[in-house]
Parts: sequence; structure tokens; C-alpha cells
Amino acid sequence: MVDVPSCFVGLVLEDCQLPYANHGHVILADPSPILFYPISSTEVRCLVDVPGQKVPTISNGEMAKYLKTTVAPQVPPELFDAFISSIERGNIRTMPNRSMPAAPHPTPGALLMGDAFNMRHPLTGGGMTVAFSDIVVLRNLLKPLPDLNDAHTLCKYLESFYTLRKPVASTINTLAGALYKVFSASPDRARNEMRRACFDYLSLGVAIFGVGRLLLPFPSPKRMWIGARLISSASEIIFPIIKAEGVRQMFFPATVPAYYRAPPAK
Ligand SMILES: Cc1cc2nc3c(=O)[nH]c(=O)nc-3n(C[C@H](O)[C@H](O)[C@H](O)COP(=O)(O)OP(=O)(O)OC[C@H]3O[C@@H](n4cnc5c(N)ncnc54)[C@H](O)[C@@H]3O)c2cc1C
Repeated sequence: MVDVPSCFVGLVLEDCQLPYANHGHVILADPSPILFYPISSTEVRCLVDVPGQKVPTISNGEMAKYLKTTVAPQVPPELFDAFISSIERGNIRTMPNRSMPAAPHPTPGALLMGDAFNMRHPLTGGGMTVAFSDIVVLRNLLKPLPDLNDAHTLCKYLESFYTLRKPVASTINTLAGALYKVFSASPDRARNEMRRACFDYLSLGVAIFGVGRLLLPFPSPKRMWIGARLISSASEIIFPIIKAEGVRQMFFPATVPAYYRAPPAK
């Protein structure tokens, strides 16, 4: 099932300096993140996330108005002038952000890879990494085979591909889906606490870090309640993603029979 949680509005900013040169920037804006990253020595790509499947119309000026009134005030000051100039130049592109769990369809003679097979929100820029990782998994599976002509036997053997790809693919997919939700603004105080905790400490379990931070130095009943809501919000975000990826394939790949598929006999 293809989901479209949001769209990206793309602009190119010219002759400006990013706050941190040669780094990608994620602005935790309201209602959802804005990305900036360099694409040449003089140009910066800006991607404004707009939640939902519809974006303001470009042709009647609604988009320019939205970018100037809602988005521009949240843009770092260093980039503000270049952002406004880019809107005025009018080269604005939009695209839907698709998310699609991998649904294996073993078909003799064909193997789907790349975005046609599996997509995640592009916030973390993980799509090409998953595609390349899948190529390596497939290369390793095909390497010992002297003959690729028997499409039916090969198809059966390649069922292990769908399990062997999971450690990398699921990690990147889960991170993309969860971070997009965590980084989007929410009226829920627990979600906002998670967003702040995420900002403060990305590399540790964000929910756990957030709860720890709430409980220190003194765990008041109110703080404990927000902590419980935080864990519950984190579960609401993460569990559907894990379910779509496949609990068994993600956490217990060695229990999937296809994992042990032996190469076809010569
Ligand atoms: C805004 C954005 C930023 C991203 N940033 C990153 C990043 O930083 N790092 C990263 O790893 N990934 C990133 N990704 C994801 C990455 O771009 C994709 O995962 C990757 O391009 C998928 O490669 P693909 O070959 O499967 O599909 P595509 O790159 O989409 O290639 C499919 C090609 O097929 C062509 N095509 C479609 N239909 C037909 C047809 N009927 N006949 C002939 N040709 C056809 C299309 O025109 C296209 O050229 C980003 C994605 C987006 C949307």
C-alpha cells in the first residue's frame, strides 16, 4: 500500500551560506521539517515539507504566499534573503513523498528493486542507500551460481533476498518514518517533549532519553504522566512501522525458512 504522508516543495537558493558549511540542515519547523543542503559551491537545495497530499497552487500565487508568510519566518536568518529571492524567481517544484513497505512478489525472471519495490519518507535521504544495499545482498546471493537460466529455481532461491535485506532496509525505513513523525509539530505535549528530546540527543533511544529527562531531578506526578504519554506516543509511531516491515523478518530473521535457502544444485 502506498501512503503519501506529505509533499515536498523544492527550491534552489543561490549565493548564500549555510549556518554550518557543507552540512545538511533539518529545521524543526511548524507544521513539519524544512531541509537545506548544498548541491554545488554556490547553490543550496531547500525542501519544504507540507503535510497531506495537497499543496498550495503555484499558478495562482498561493504557494508563494504560503512560503513567504508561513515558512520564511522559520528559515534561519542567514538563508532568509536567498529564500525570498528564490520564491520570487518562481522556480518552485512540488512532489509527493511516498512511503511503501516492501511486499515481496516472487516472479520467475524478474526482481523488483529500488523505489518501485520499497519507499520511505525522503527526510533522511535513505532511498538510494537501501537500493545499493539491496544490490549488494543480491550480488552476494547470485555470486556462487554458475547458471541463471532456470528462472523458477532461481526465483525460489531468491526468496531469501527478502529476509536478508531486512536488517539494513528496515532500519533505514523505520528511522525515516519515525523521525518524520517525531520531527513534525504536534499539539500533543508528549509529542513535543519527544521532539525536544530527539533534538537534544539523537543517538540514544529518544523516548527513553525523553522520559529520563522528565523524571530528573524530581519526578512529579505531572511529569510522570507526560513520561507515560511520551512512551505511548512513541509506541503509536513505531509499532505500525515495525508491523509494516514484518516483526519476524526484522527481529528474528533466522526463524524465516527462506533465510537458509541453499543455492540451486548445479
Ligand atoms: C527529494 C528527495 C531527496 C532524496 N534524497 C536522497 C538522499 O539524499 N540519499 C538517498 O540515498 N536517497 C535519497 N532519495 C531517495 C532516492 O532518490 C531514491 O530512493 C532513488 O532515486 C530510487 O532509485 P530508483 O532507480 O529505484 O528510482 P528513480 O530514481 O525514481 O528512477 C526511476 C526512473 O524510471 C523512469 N521511469 C518511470 N516510469 C518509466 C516508464 N514507464 N518507462 C521508462 N522509464 C520510466 C523515471 O523517469 C526515473 O528516471 C531522495 C528522494 C527524494 C524524493
